[in-house]
Amino acid sequence: MKSLYLFRKDLRAGDHPGLEYLIDRQREVILLYVEDPSDRLLKSRGYEVRRGLLSRLDRLLGRKIHFERGDTLSILKGYIEAFGVEEVVLQKQYEPWEVALQEALASLGVGVMMIEDYLLLSPERGLKHDDTLYLVFKAFYDNWRKKISPGSPFTYALGDLRSMKVKEAPVPVAPDPVDYARIDTFFNEDVPRYQDISDEFTREGTARISALINNGGISTRKVLYLGRISDAFIRQLAWREYYTHWIYYYPDAVKEDFRPVAYPWSTNREDFEKWQRGETGYDLVDAAMNQLNREGWIHGRLRMVAASFLIKDLHIDWRWGEAYFHEKLLDADTALNVGNWQWMAGTGALHQPYFRVLSPLAQSARFDPEGVYVRANLEGSHEPMVDHKTSRILFIENFKQAQQAQKNKEA
Ligand SMILES: Cc1cc2nc3c(=O)[nH]c(=O)nc-3n(C[C@H](O)[C@H](O)[C@H](O)COP(=O)(O)OP(=O)(O)OC[C@H]3O[C@@H](n4cnc5c(N)ncnc54)[C@H](O)[C@@H]3O)c2cc1C
Repeated sequence: MKSLYLFRKDLRAGDHPGLEYLIDRQREVILLYVEDPSDRLLKSRGYEVRRGLLSRLDRLLGRKIHFERGDTLSILKGYIEAFGVEEVVLQKQYEPWEVALQEALASLGVGVMMIEDYLLLSPERGLKHDDTLYLVFKAFYDNWRKKISPGSPFTYALGDLRSMKVKEAPVPVAPDPVDYARIDTFFNEDVPRYQDISDEFTREGTARISALINNGGISTRKVLYLGRISDAFIRQLAWREYYTHWIYYYPDAVKEDFRPVAYPWSTNREDFEKWQRGETGYDLVDAAMNQLNREGWIHGRLRMVAASFLIKDLHIDWRWGEAYFHEKLLDADTALNVGNWQWMAGTGALHQPYFRVLSPLAQSARFDPEGVYVRANLEGSHEPMVDHKTSRILFIENFKQAQQAQKNKEA
């Protein structure tokens, strides 16, 4: 049997059920990666990680992966015809465009084997008894936690992968930007203290593993295994799974409020650009945006501070912020990014109450009292663009009214 393995977000050689399936069944296989211009990640710095991991995997697999650019379905059709492929194997994904591709595979006229491995719990098993999504995180978490298990990662001999020879389509060589040493240190030394240190952005208290997980450079099973001694860490993984389930069941949430609210969002581009450039005049927000622009990374709490400021101080639509974060983050992931932005905006499935507004000054005083982070990341000083107290009150008032208007519309 000739199989084609289409890589998605599963760019690793070990602990890989897709590769294991092919090895076990002794399939003759073509390994393929398609760079599809419709992939949203191509417009993000996150693609640097994707390319780096792909290049690394290609090396580990003896340069056997074929790399093509173009429409995935058309390229698959071409390979199937040219090489007599009888089966396409791939990892199941959950974003709307991935689901559309998976559905379209039926038209290829060959067998399709979908491997469920991206998440610790499939979306079907993450639902309530009435087959609807949990709208309370604790209830989701309790169900999820009961059903997942930190089984140890499995191994197999990669040498047994019987890959077919096809035309030359080499994977471009790219550097792998993941800091593996940093991740090792986290799991060897920091994970027992995660609960106490994870909120502190002045030190490296978290795993910095998101870009690796999101591209499948490591399996979620292995991450759970490595972090199994910390409940607080496991809980974070549950957030990741919740948002991925959510986007699967509510694909429109990528663009639309899950709980619609007719908020009169500002469309002031000048304000938006000041936020992007780190020129708001609020040191913590500006330092965070500078680090984001420079490194493609900021700590989770700083993402909250920056997002809260855009939405609740500048009154700019979460979609603008989501798009900018997506472009800049090395760990860009639509489900997680949208989920967190909607959480902050008060429009998500799970969400922060709209009247809870983060104060950049209070956050600085609490988490960076000596100003260490701000000093390291501030580039110049700016006049505050708004008065936080006034803009906060205005946001709360407007949001209350917009919510009422929405209720009246729906009544
Ligand atoms: C406005 C905003 C936008 C975000 N956009 C993204 C994004 O595009 N991609 C992304 O991977 N994460 C995003 N996050 C979530 C979170 O900030 C990052 O996953 C986390 O900071 C990554 O760092 P870490 O690996 O050191 O996390 P750790 O603290 O070590 O956590 C371990 C893992 O748990 C998951 N996790 C942690 N926090 C969250 C969370 N709030 N929501 C969902 N999963 C979480 C991640 O997979 C993370 O790698 C966003 C958060 C906010 C507030």
